[in-house]
This record gives sequence, structure tokens and C-alpha cells, in this order.
Amino acid sequence: MSHYREQFIQFVVDFANTYDPFLDEPEFLRTPADLQEFLQQRHIEMSGPFTEIEFMRVRQLRDRLRDIFLRLETSDAAEIEGTINSLLGTSPVNLQASISEGEPTEIKYEIPTTVALVERLAVQTGLGLTLALQQYGAERLKVCAAAPCQEVFIDVSKNKSRRFCGERCANRYNVAHFRERQRSDKD
Ligand SMILES: [Zn+2]
Repeated sequence: MSHYREQFIQFVVDFANTYDPFLDEPEFLRTPADLQEFLQQRHIEMSGPFTEIEFMRVRQLRDRLRDIFLRLETSDAAEIEGTINSLLGTSPVNLQASISEGEPTEIKYEIPTTVALVERLAVQTGLGLTLALQQYGAERLKVCAAAPCQEVFIDVSKNKSRRFCGERCANRYNVAHFRERQRSDKD
């Protein structure tokens, strides 16, 4: 897959993971400055400084995205489609073909920077989700199974068997279940 499309997909994963209920302080976007840094790291242009209200709206969008991931397993196709289309319909997008030798032909999505930040990010989120579903399918877009962690990840394993966001949670889960088994053996 092209790096360009990969960036959109990575954005939705990273954006969803700006909240981690596993941590004492689950919120990564605590201040507008945190959001600014998050966007800068991903080369997302801003038209200027944003207000506290815009910042709060971006966090609400993030919560909506997390909700989509958390309910993906139990949602039907029409539900997912409806949610994504409501995100995509938030603001206009300029499309451009990008064709150059030695590189995959790409449709480039440009969301005018004059559009409010939260609306641009809503479209970016809708695009990222669509590209992720296109590339991997809903069954590979997962939430970590080791509660209270809810980290979102894409399972690229051969047999779609990955359950945890990483080593941290896999170990934690295995230790907890080992202890549980030991306890039940004693009974
Ligand atoms: Zn985890």
C-alpha cells in the first residue's frame, strides 16, 4: 500500500489512541497545545490557532471515533457506512490525481484549510476509516482484549489472531489468566 494512504490509516489509529483508559491519566490531549503538537507531528496544516471550543469539539470527534472502533464488531455494514458517510459529508474535499513515474497513482484528498479544524478532521477521520476498511476489512480493525486497555490496532497477522495491542498487554493478560487457573486448580 502507498505511503500516502498509509498515513490516513495511521491517523485514525493514532487519533483513537489519544485516549487510553489503561493509564492513570487516560487523556493525551489535555490542552490545545497537546492537540497542536499531535497535528504538527502528522503534518496536518492549521489555518491558525484554534479556540478552546474547537479543541473540545476535536476531542468529541475523537470520542466518536473510539466509539466506532469499540462497536465495530457488533455493528452491521449499513451502520458503519452511515457513520462514515456522516463524517465524510462534514466539509468539501478537493480531489487531485497524482501520477508520477515509479510511484503508485494516487487520488490526493485536500481539505481546504479555511474549513473549521474539527470539520477537516472529521473528513480526514472518515477517509482514514474507509481506507482502513478497504485495505484490511472490519475484522482486522481491533481493540485490545486486555481490559482496561482499549488501545486500537490493526491486526496484520496471517490468521487474524492477534488480540492485544502489544507485549505489555499480552503479558499482563497471560499472567492474570495463569493466576486464575492456579486458583481454580486449588479449589
Ligand atoms: Zn492493550
